[in-house]
Amino acid sequence: MQIQTPYYLIDERKLFKNMKKIEYVRKNSGVKSVLALKCFSAWSVFPLMSKYMAGTTSSSLYEARLGYEKFGGETHAFSVAYSKSDIESLKKISDKVIFNSVSQLKMFYKDVKHLNIGLRVNPGVSYSHFDLANPARKNSRLGVFDKNEVLKALDKINGVMFHYNCENGDFVSFSKMLDFISSKYEKVLHKVNWVSLGGGLYFTKEGYPIDKFCEKLKEFSQKYNVQVYLEPGEAAITKCCELVTTVLDIVHNGKDIAIVDASTEAHMLDLLIYQTPAKMDSKSGKNEYIIAGKSCLAGDIFGTYKLAGKLKVGSKVKFADAAGYTMVKKNWFNGVKMPSIVVKRLNGKTEIIRQFLYTDFVKNLS
Ligand SMILES: *Cc1c(COP(=O)(O)O)cnc(C)c1O
Repeated sequence: MQIQTPYYLIDERKLFKNMKKIEYVRKNSGVKSVLALKCFSAWSVFPLMSKYMAGTTSSSLYEARLGYEKFGGETHAFSVAYSKSDIESLKKISDKVIFNSVSQLKMFYKDVKHLNIGLRVNPGVSYSHFDLANPARKNSRLGVFDKNEVLKALDKINGVMFHYNCENGDFVSFSKMLDFISSKYEKVLHKVNWVSLGGGLYFTKEGYPIDKFCEKLKEFSQKYNVQVYLEPGEAAITKCCELVTTVLDIVHNGKDIAIVDASTEAHMLDLLIYQTPAKMDSKSGKNEYIIAGKSCLAGDIFGTYKLAGKLKVGSKVKFADAAGYTMVKKNWFNGVKMPSIVVKRLNGKTEIIRQFLYTDFVKNLS
């Protein structure tokens, strides 16, 4: 089947491998995983994911509603700040409502006290390669820093959430930080029924010591007699999706520059935000190209690659790892054709799930 580029190609067989690891962690440690929708919300593959994950967690009312309607299982609500109307809607669909501050907890306690209530705690330690994504950065607003405030709120909550990792593939650092949290918040942990350790842990990655990870989590949950949750975003969908593009032109200015029918700013925005090149799985060789997007932004560049073959107009270029923080951020900058969503199902059949048209572009604003 010839599918018109650009498109995101989600491969369920690859997704299945991650899901199996998530299931393995649940079976071997008792820890439940909920999908962080802010990372990945392409709901056409939720029927597969929801067999292996306990539900979803969210950053807003709309995400929570999406999780409730399309994923099912447990719906965890979190928001850096809720409005009164957010709470009115959320209390009808959420199993857990997690507050980011004690002031918000007090503001809305009466509205949600019949539900599971959690408080986000900022342990003051974190793991992140980027200050932009570091929850423990200076003057951070993410979670309650003051332990005494957490202790005083204990009569109102039955769970706590610590989200303090970003792309952490290092088990030793995770383990040390968990020990730190364990000793610092001992009193809190003995009082609550559930603890979420957030996302940002790359336990589905090749070579990650998953058995040690399970052992550590099990030990922690038994020590405090709590249900532990993880909130994987990236770890759930890593390596499952490609952005497939076509070369439209090749120009020369010091180097050969291949221009494809997609754009970093519109379709893989995090490359610009974090100043990282797009990953590519193809074999390397002698032919060097800058591969760039078709928007008018001068720095709309996917990266510089040494390829085995030569590119020409019409060549396909596939960028790897295009699921997390990618599809959720796509936008209509420059009016560039939005990539379709294509899913390769577990049974090997390829389905075009969604194509975006000029009318979608028009309806995006008014
Ligand atoms: C972003 C986020 C996650 C998911 O993080 P990943 O790095 O994608 O695993 C989980 N929980 C919270 C509170 C978050 O903000």
